[in-house]
Amino acid sequence: MKQQISVLGATGSIGLSTLDVIARHPHDYQVFALTGFSRLVELERLCLLHRPRFAVVPTAEAARPLQAALEANGLDTRVLVGEQGLCEVAAHPEVDAVMAAIVGAAGLKPTLAAVQAGKRVLLANKEALVMSGALFMQAVQAHGAVLLPIDSEHNAIFQCMPGDYARGLGQVGVRRILLTASGGPFRNWPLERLAEATPQQACAHPNWAMGRKISVDSASMMNKGLELIEACWLFDARPAQVEVVIHPQSVIHSLVDYVDGSVLAQLGNPDMRTPIAHALAWPRRIDSGVAPLDLFAIARLDFEAPDERRFPCLKLARQAAEAGGTAPALLNAANEVAVAAFLDGRIRFDEIARMIEAVLNRISAIAVQQLDDVLQADAQARAVAQDWLVRYGH
Ligand code: NAD
Ligand code: MG
Repeated sequence: MKQQISVLGATGSIGLSTLDVIARHPHDYQVFALTGFSRLVELERLCLLHRPRFAVVPTAEAARPLQAALEANGLDTRVLVGEQGLCEVAAHPEVDAVMAAIVGAAGLKPTLAAVQAGKRVLLANKEALVMSGALFMQAVQAHGAVLLPIDSEHNAIFQCMPGDYARGLGQVGVRRILLTASGGPFRNWPLERLAEATPQQACAHPNWAMGRKISVDSASMMNKGLELIEACWLFDARPAQVEVVIHPQSVIHSLVDYVDGSVLAQLGNPDMRTPIAHALAWPRRIDSGVAPLDLFAIARLDFEAPDERRFPCLKLARQAAEAGGTAPALLNAANEVAVAAFLDGRIRFDEIARMIEAVLNRISAIAVQQLDDVLQADAQARAVAQDWLVRYGH
Protein backbone atom coordinates (compact mmCIF):
# COMPACT_ATOMS: atom_id res chain seq x y z
CA MET A 1 0.00 0.00 0.00
CA LYS A 2 1.33 3.40 -0.97
CA GLN A 3 1.49 6.02 1.77
CA GLN A 4 -0.76 9.00 0.98
CA ILE A 5 1.00 12.29 1.66
CA SER A 6 -0.41 15.82 1.96
CA VAL A 7 2.24 18.46 1.35
CA LEU A 8 1.24 21.78 2.95
CA GLY A 9 3.37 24.57 1.49
CA ALA A 10 4.28 22.50 -1.57
CA THR A 11 5.57 25.46 -3.60
CA GLY A 12 8.16 26.42 -0.98
CA SER A 13 11.72 25.28 -0.46
CA ILE A 14 10.80 22.41 1.91
CA GLY A 15 7.75 21.49 -0.17
CA LEU A 16 9.82 21.13 -3.34
CA SER A 17 12.50 19.10 -1.55
CA THR A 18 9.76 16.82 -0.19
CA LEU A 19 8.35 16.25 -3.67
CA ASP A 20 11.86 15.50 -4.92
CA VAL A 21 12.24 12.72 -2.32
CA ILE A 22 8.72 11.38 -2.93
CA ALA A 23 9.36 11.23 -6.69
CA ARG A 24 12.33 8.90 -6.04
CA HIS A 25 9.99 6.34 -4.43
CA PRO A 26 6.87 6.13 -6.61
CA HIS A 27 6.00 2.66 -5.31
CA ASP A 28 5.98 3.76 -1.66
CA TYR A 29 4.47 7.26 -1.65
CA GLN A 30 1.65 9.02 -3.44
CA VAL A 31 0.90 12.73 -3.28
CA PHE A 32 -2.61 13.18 -1.89
CA ALA A 33 -2.75 16.98 -1.69
CA LEU A 34 -0.60 19.97 -2.63
CA THR A 35 -1.12 23.47 -1.27
CA GLY A 36 0.22 26.85 -2.37
CA PHE A 37 -0.32 30.46 -1.50
CA SER A 38 1.29 32.82 -4.00
CA ARG A 39 3.22 30.92 -6.68
CA LEU A 40 0.15 29.35 -8.24
CA VAL A 41 1.68 28.75 -11.67
CA GLU A 42 4.23 26.62 -9.84
CA LEU A 43 1.40 24.85 -7.98
CA GLU A 44 -0.27 24.04 -11.31
CA ARG A 45 3.00 22.58 -12.64
CA LEU A 46 3.35 20.46 -9.48
CA CYS A 47 -0.23 19.22 -9.82
CA LEU A 48 0.35 18.16 -13.42
CA LEU A 49 3.47 16.29 -12.30
CA HIS A 50 2.11 14.60 -9.15
CA ARG A 51 -1.63 14.33 -9.96
CA PRO A 52 -2.92 14.85 -6.39
CA ARG A 53 -6.52 14.25 -5.31
CA PHE A 54 -6.70 17.79 -3.87
CA ALA A 55 -5.01 21.15 -4.33
CA VAL A 56 -5.51 24.10 -1.98
CA VAL A 57 -5.20 27.80 -2.83
CA PRO A 58 -5.95 30.91 -0.73
CA THR A 59 -9.04 32.27 -2.53
CA ALA A 60 -11.98 31.28 -4.74
CA GLU A 61 -10.65 33.65 -7.42
CA ALA A 62 -7.42 31.70 -7.48
CA ALA A 63 -9.22 28.34 -7.40
CA ARG A 64 -11.29 28.83 -10.57
CA PRO A 65 -8.47 29.17 -13.15
CA LEU A 66 -6.46 26.39 -11.49
CA GLN A 67 -9.47 24.04 -11.49
CA ALA A 68 -10.10 24.85 -15.16
CA ALA A 69 -6.46 24.34 -16.14
CA LEU A 70 -6.27 20.98 -14.35
CA GLU A 71 -9.52 19.80 -15.94
CA ALA A 72 -8.28 20.86 -19.38
CA ASN A 73 -5.32 18.56 -18.76
CA GLY A 74 -7.58 15.64 -17.87
CA LEU A 75 -6.95 15.72 -14.11
CA ASP A 76 -9.75 15.15 -11.61
CA THR A 77 -7.90 17.02 -8.85
CA ARG A 78 -10.36 19.03 -6.72
CA VAL A 79 -9.25 22.54 -5.81
CA LEU A 80 -10.18 23.63 -2.27
CA VAL A 81 -9.91 27.08 -0.72
CA GLY A 82 -8.37 28.76 2.31
CA GLU A 83 -7.66 27.61 5.84
CA GLN A 84 -10.65 25.27 5.79
CA GLY A 85 -9.26 23.56 2.69
CA LEU A 86 -5.84 23.26 4.33
CA CYS A 87 -7.35 21.67 7.46
CA GLU A 88 -9.42 19.30 5.30
CA VAL A 89 -6.43 17.88 3.40
CA ALA A 90 -4.37 17.73 6.61
CA ALA A 91 -7.00 15.66 8.45
CA HIS A 92 -8.52 13.67 5.56
CA PRO A 93 -9.14 10.04 6.61
CA GLU A 94 -7.22 8.68 3.61
CA VAL A 95 -4.05 10.63 4.44
CA ASP A 96 -1.18 8.81 6.17
CA ALA A 97 1.37 11.60 6.56
CA VAL A 98 1.33 15.38 6.42
CA MET A 99 4.33 17.51 5.57
CA ALA A 100 3.71 20.74 7.53
CA ALA A 101 5.83 23.19 5.49
CA ILE A 102 3.79 26.39 5.49
CA VAL A 103 5.89 29.25 6.82
CA GLY A 104 4.83 31.11 9.95
CA ALA A 105 1.70 31.30 12.07
CA ALA A 106 -0.45 30.62 8.98
CA GLY A 107 0.51 26.96 9.36
CA LEU A 108 -0.74 26.59 12.94
CA LYS A 109 -4.34 25.48 12.39
CA PRO A 110 -3.67 23.06 9.50
CA THR A 111 -0.74 21.51 11.38
CA LEU A 112 -2.88 21.12 14.50
CA ALA A 113 -5.64 19.60 12.34
CA ALA A 114 -3.17 16.92 11.20
CA VAL A 115 -2.13 16.28 14.81
CA GLN A 116 -5.74 16.05 15.98
CA ALA A 117 -6.47 13.55 13.22
CA GLY A 118 -3.64 11.37 14.59
CA LYS A 119 -1.47 11.60 11.47
CA ARG A 120 2.23 11.11 11.04
CA VAL A 121 3.21 14.79 11.07
CA LEU A 122 6.48 15.85 9.46
CA LEU A 123 7.06 19.18 11.16
CA ALA A 124 8.99 21.87 9.26
CA ASN A 125 6.65 24.69 10.36
CA LYS A 126 8.48 25.38 13.64
CA GLU A 127 6.46 28.56 14.24
CA ALA A 128 3.34 26.43 14.88
CA LEU A 129 5.05 24.52 17.68
CA VAL A 130 6.75 27.64 19.10
CA MET A 131 3.39 29.42 19.35
CA SER A 132 1.31 26.67 20.85
CA GLY A 133 3.91 24.31 22.38
CA ALA A 134 2.05 22.84 25.36
CA LEU A 135 -1.29 22.49 23.54
CA PHE A 136 0.45 21.05 20.50
CA MET A 137 2.31 18.38 22.48
CA GLN A 138 -0.82 17.52 24.49
CA ALA A 139 -2.71 17.04 21.21
CA VAL A 140 0.06 14.76 19.88
CA GLN A 141 -0.38 12.59 22.98
CA ALA A 142 -4.16 12.69 23.07
CA HIS A 143 -4.64 11.77 19.40
CA GLY A 144 -1.75 9.33 18.98
CA ALA A 145 -0.07 11.42 16.28
CA VAL A 146 3.53 10.61 15.34
CA LEU A 147 5.51 13.84 15.36
CA LEU A 148 8.78 13.76 13.41
CA PRO A 149 11.00 16.84 13.21
CA ILE A 150 12.13 18.07 9.79
CA ASP A 151 14.20 20.98 11.06
CA SER A 152 17.68 19.56 10.42
CA GLU A 153 18.86 20.19 14.00
CA HIS A 154 15.84 18.57 15.62
CA ASN A 155 15.91 15.70 13.20
CA ALA A 156 19.57 15.22 14.16
CA ILE A 157 18.75 15.37 17.89
CA PHE A 158 15.92 12.87 17.37
CA GLN A 159 18.38 10.53 15.63
CA CYS A 160 20.88 10.88 18.52
CA MET A 161 18.30 10.31 21.28
CA PRO A 162 17.60 6.85 22.71
CA GLY A 163 14.30 5.34 21.56
CA ASP A 164 12.71 5.86 24.98
CA TYR A 165 13.66 9.54 25.43
CA ALA A 166 10.02 10.38 26.13
CA ARG A 167 10.57 8.93 29.65
CA GLY A 168 12.44 12.16 30.39
CA LEU A 169 15.94 13.32 29.54
CA GLY A 170 17.17 12.72 33.11
CA GLN A 171 15.81 9.15 33.05
CA VAL A 172 17.70 8.26 29.87
CA GLY A 173 21.00 9.86 30.84
CA VAL A 174 20.91 12.92 28.61
CA ARG A 175 22.78 15.89 30.10
CA ARG A 176 22.37 18.51 27.39
CA ILE A 177 21.32 19.11 23.83
CA LEU A 178 23.90 20.93 21.72
CA LEU A 179 22.01 22.85 19.06
CA THR A 180 24.27 23.83 16.18
CA ALA A 181 23.94 27.03 14.16
CA SER A 182 25.84 28.19 11.09
CA GLY A 183 25.94 31.78 12.35
CA GLY A 184 24.40 32.91 9.04
CA PRO A 185 25.78 35.43 6.57
CA PHE A 186 26.65 38.08 9.21
CA ARG A 187 28.72 35.93 11.57
CA ASN A 188 31.90 37.84 10.76
CA TRP A 189 30.55 41.24 9.75
CA PRO A 190 31.80 44.23 11.75
CA LEU A 191 29.03 44.96 14.29
CA GLU A 192 28.59 48.56 13.15
CA ARG A 193 27.84 47.42 9.59
CA LEU A 194 24.82 45.27 10.59
CA ALA A 195 22.55 48.35 10.46
CA GLU A 196 23.11 48.64 6.69
CA ALA A 197 22.61 44.95 5.85
CA THR A 198 20.17 44.60 2.94
CA PRO A 199 17.46 41.93 2.49
CA GLN A 200 19.50 40.47 -0.34
CA GLN A 201 22.56 40.12 1.90
CA ALA A 202 20.47 38.67 4.72
CA CYS A 203 18.95 36.08 2.38
CA ALA A 204 22.32 34.96 0.99
CA HIS A 205 22.87 32.11 3.43
CA PRO A 206 26.32 30.53 3.23
CA ASN A 207 25.18 26.88 3.45
CA TRP A 208 21.42 26.54 2.88
CA ALA A 209 18.99 27.71 0.16
CA MET A 210 15.73 28.46 1.99
CA GLY A 211 12.61 30.65 1.91
CA ARG A 212 13.14 34.36 2.61
CA LYS A 213 11.58 34.45 6.10
CA ILE A 214 13.74 31.68 7.54
CA SER A 215 16.77 33.14 5.74
CA VAL A 216 16.35 36.46 7.57
CA ASP A 217 15.73 34.52 10.80
CA SER A 218 19.02 32.71 10.23
CA ALA A 219 20.86 36.00 9.69
CA SER A 220 19.46 37.42 12.97
CA MET A 221 19.72 34.03 14.69
CA MET A 222 16.06 34.32 15.67
CA ASN A 223 15.86 31.04 13.79
CA LYS A 224 18.09 29.47 16.45
CA GLY A 225 15.99 31.12 19.14
CA LEU A 226 12.82 29.60 17.69
CA GLU A 227 14.67 26.28 17.42
CA LEU A 228 15.67 26.48 21.08
CA ILE A 229 11.98 26.73 21.99
CA GLU A 230 11.15 24.00 19.46
CA ALA A 231 13.75 21.68 21.05
CA CYS A 232 12.34 22.28 24.54
CA TRP A 233 8.89 21.12 23.40
CA LEU A 234 9.98 18.22 21.23
CA PHE A 235 12.34 16.70 23.77
CA ASP A 236 10.81 17.97 27.01
CA ALA A 237 13.98 19.90 27.84
CA ARG A 238 14.43 22.97 30.00
CA PRO A 239 15.88 25.98 28.16
CA ALA A 240 19.04 25.69 30.29
CA GLN A 241 19.56 22.16 28.93
CA VAL A 242 19.88 23.46 25.36
CA GLU A 243 23.17 25.08 24.42
CA VAL A 244 23.66 26.88 21.11
CA VAL A 245 26.96 26.18 19.35
CA ILE A 246 28.04 28.02 16.22
CA HIS A 247 29.43 25.56 13.71
CA PRO A 248 29.98 27.41 10.42
CA GLN A 249 30.30 24.36 8.14
CA SER A 250 26.76 23.04 8.91
CA VAL A 251 27.98 19.44 8.67
CA ILE A 252 27.12 18.42 12.23
CA HIS A 253 23.39 19.09 12.46
CA SER A 254 23.27 18.90 16.29
CA LEU A 255 24.47 16.72 19.18
CA VAL A 256 23.25 15.02 22.35
CA ASP A 257 25.54 15.01 25.40
CA TYR A 258 25.11 12.06 27.82
CA VAL A 259 26.03 11.89 31.52
CA ASP A 260 28.73 9.27 30.84
CA GLY A 261 30.62 11.74 28.66
CA SER A 262 29.44 10.33 25.33
CA VAL A 263 28.38 12.92 22.78
CA LEU A 264 26.40 11.66 19.79
CA ALA A 265 26.16 13.75 16.64
CA GLN A 266 24.43 13.40 13.30
CA LEU A 267 26.42 14.56 10.29
CA GLY A 268 25.56 15.05 6.64
CA ASN A 269 25.71 17.45 3.75
CA PRO A 270 23.50 20.49 4.35
CA ASP A 271 20.54 19.32 2.25
CA MET A 272 17.01 19.16 3.70
CA ARG A 273 16.24 16.02 1.70
CA THR A 274 18.11 14.03 4.38
CA PRO A 275 15.78 14.89 7.30
CA ILE A 276 12.78 14.74 4.95
CA ALA A 277 13.67 11.22 3.78
CA HIS A 278 14.41 10.21 7.38
CA ALA A 279 11.02 11.37 8.63
CA LEU A 280 9.09 10.04 5.62
CA ALA A 281 10.45 6.51 6.01
CA TRP A 282 11.22 6.35 9.75
CA PRO A 283 12.15 3.89 11.19
CA ARG A 284 13.36 2.70 7.77
CA ARG A 285 16.03 4.45 5.71
CA ILE A 286 15.53 5.40 2.06
CA ASP A 287 17.58 7.13 -0.63
CA SER A 288 17.17 10.91 -0.51
CA GLY A 289 19.27 11.92 -3.50
CA VAL A 290 21.81 13.60 -1.18
CA ALA A 291 25.46 13.04 -2.10
CA PRO A 292 27.57 11.04 0.39
CA LEU A 293 29.49 13.14 2.89
CA ASP A 294 33.11 13.71 1.83
CA LEU A 295 35.01 14.27 5.08
CA PHE A 296 38.32 14.77 3.25
CA ALA A 297 36.84 17.61 1.22
CA ILE A 298 35.41 19.19 4.41
CA ALA A 299 38.72 18.62 6.21
CA ARG A 300 37.83 20.55 9.38
CA LEU A 301 34.92 21.33 11.69
CA ASP A 302 34.90 24.59 13.70
CA PHE A 303 32.93 25.64 16.76
CA GLU A 304 32.41 28.95 18.57
CA ALA A 305 30.07 30.44 21.16
CA PRO A 306 27.39 32.87 19.91
CA ASP A 307 27.88 36.56 20.71
CA GLU A 308 24.66 38.02 22.17
CA ARG A 309 25.62 41.58 21.16
CA ARG A 310 25.71 40.46 17.55
CA PHE A 311 22.63 38.27 17.91
CA PRO A 312 20.24 39.93 20.42
CA CYS A 313 17.32 37.89 19.01
CA LEU A 314 18.83 34.78 20.53
CA LYS A 315 18.65 36.33 23.98
CA LEU A 316 15.06 37.50 23.45
CA ALA A 317 14.07 33.97 22.45
CA ARG A 318 15.78 32.40 25.45
CA GLN A 319 13.94 34.83 27.74
CA ALA A 320 10.64 33.93 26.06
CA ALA A 321 11.42 30.22 26.45
CA GLU A 322 12.04 30.75 30.16
CA ALA A 323 8.95 32.94 30.63
CA GLY A 324 6.66 30.35 28.97
CA GLY A 325 2.90 30.86 28.57
CA THR A 326 2.13 33.14 25.64
CA ALA A 327 5.66 34.64 25.58
CA PRO A 328 6.88 32.49 22.65
CA ALA A 329 3.71 33.31 20.65
CA LEU A 330 4.30 37.04 21.27
CA LEU A 331 7.94 36.70 20.25
CA ASN A 332 7.04 34.79 17.09
CA ALA A 333 4.34 37.22 15.98
CA ALA A 334 6.52 40.29 16.59
CA ASN A 335 9.30 38.60 14.65
CA GLU A 336 7.03 37.78 11.69
CA VAL A 337 5.98 41.44 11.43
CA ALA A 338 9.57 42.64 11.86
CA VAL A 339 10.97 40.30 9.21
CA ALA A 340 8.26 41.28 6.71
CA ALA A 341 8.98 44.97 7.43
CA PHE A 342 12.71 44.40 6.94
CA LEU A 343 12.11 42.60 3.64
CA ASP A 344 9.88 45.53 2.55
CA GLY A 345 12.61 48.04 3.38
CA ARG A 346 10.61 49.62 6.22
CA ILE A 347 13.11 48.88 9.02
CA ARG A 348 16.85 48.27 9.17
CA PHE A 349 18.29 44.88 10.01
CA ASP A 350 19.31 45.93 13.53
CA GLU A 351 15.79 47.21 14.17
CA ILE A 352 14.33 43.69 13.96
CA ALA A 353 15.49 42.89 17.50
CA ARG A 354 14.64 46.38 18.74
CA MET A 355 11.09 46.12 17.49
CA ILE A 356 10.56 42.64 18.98
CA GLU A 357 11.91 43.78 22.32
CA ALA A 358 9.59 46.82 22.29
CA VAL A 359 6.59 44.55 21.64
CA LEU A 360 7.59 42.13 24.39
CA ASN A 361 7.99 45.03 26.82
CA ARG A 362 4.50 46.30 26.01
CA ILE A 363 2.54 43.04 26.42
CA SER A 364 2.61 40.73 29.43
CA ALA A 365 2.66 37.01 28.75
CA ILE A 366 -0.14 34.97 30.33
CA ALA A 367 -0.62 31.25 30.93
CA VAL A 368 -2.03 29.27 28.02
CA GLN A 369 -5.27 27.43 28.71
CA GLN A 370 -6.67 27.12 25.20
CA LEU A 371 -5.82 27.86 21.59
CA ASP A 372 -7.67 31.15 21.80
CA ASP A 373 -5.08 32.44 24.30
CA VAL A 374 -2.37 31.78 21.70
CA LEU A 375 -4.32 33.34 18.83
CA GLN A 376 -5.10 36.42 20.92
CA ALA A 377 -1.45 36.84 21.91
CA ASP A 378 -0.51 36.51 18.25
CA ALA A 379 -3.03 39.17 17.18
CA GLN A 380 -2.10 41.50 20.05
CA ALA A 381 1.63 41.32 19.26
CA ARG A 382 0.97 41.97 15.57
CA ALA A 383 -1.11 45.04 16.43
CA VAL A 384 1.54 46.48 18.77
CA ALA A 385 4.25 45.70 16.20
CA GLN A 386 2.28 47.55 13.51
CA ASP A 387 1.96 50.56 15.86
CA TRP A 388 5.70 50.51 16.38
CA LEU A 389 6.19 50.43 12.59
CA VAL A 390 3.91 53.41 12.04
CA ARG A 391 5.91 55.36 14.62
CA TYR A 392 9.45 54.30 13.87
CA GLY A 393 9.35 52.62 10.42
CA HIS A 394 10.85 54.38 7.40
P1 NAD B 1 9.07 29.10 1.71
O1 NAD B 1 8.81 30.53 1.85
O2 NAD B 1 10.01 28.64 0.65
O3 NAD B 1 7.69 28.31 1.49
C1 NAD B 1 6.57 28.57 2.30
C2 NAD B 1 5.35 27.82 1.80
O4 NAD B 1 4.24 28.24 2.60
C3 NAD B 1 4.99 28.12 0.35
O5 NAD B 1 4.45 26.96 -0.25
C4 NAD B 1 3.88 29.17 0.48
O6 NAD B 1 2.99 29.15 -0.62
C5 NAD B 1 3.20 28.74 1.76
N1 NAD B 1 2.56 29.86 2.46
C6 NAD B 1 3.12 31.06 2.78
N2 NAD B 1 2.23 31.84 3.42
C7 NAD B 1 1.09 31.12 3.51
C8 NAD B 1 -0.20 31.39 4.07
N3 NAD B 1 -0.50 32.56 4.65
N4 NAD B 1 -1.15 30.42 3.98
C9 NAD B 1 -0.87 29.24 3.38
N5 NAD B 1 0.32 28.93 2.84
C10 NAD B 1 1.29 29.87 2.91
O7 NAD B 1 9.57 28.57 3.15
P2 NAD B 1 10.47 27.31 3.48
O8 NAD B 1 11.90 27.70 3.50
O9 NAD B 1 10.05 26.14 2.67
O10 NAD B 1 10.05 27.07 5.02
C11 NAD B 1 8.82 26.46 5.37
C12 NAD B 1 8.84 26.14 6.85
O11 NAD B 1 9.87 25.18 7.08
C13 NAD B 1 9.16 27.33 7.74
O12 NAD B 1 8.43 27.23 8.93
C14 NAD B 1 10.64 27.18 8.02
O13 NAD B 1 11.02 27.72 9.26
C15 NAD B 1 10.78 25.66 8.04
N6 NAD B 1 12.12 25.19 7.73
C16 NAD B 1 12.66 25.43 6.50
C17 NAD B 1 13.94 24.98 6.21
C18 NAD B 1 14.55 25.18 4.84
O14 NAD B 1 15.66 24.70 4.60
N7 NAD B 1 13.91 25.86 3.92
C19 NAD B 1 14.69 24.31 7.19
C20 NAD B 1 14.10 24.09 8.43
C21 NAD B 1 12.82 24.53 8.70
MG1 MG C 1 17.06 24.43 11.38
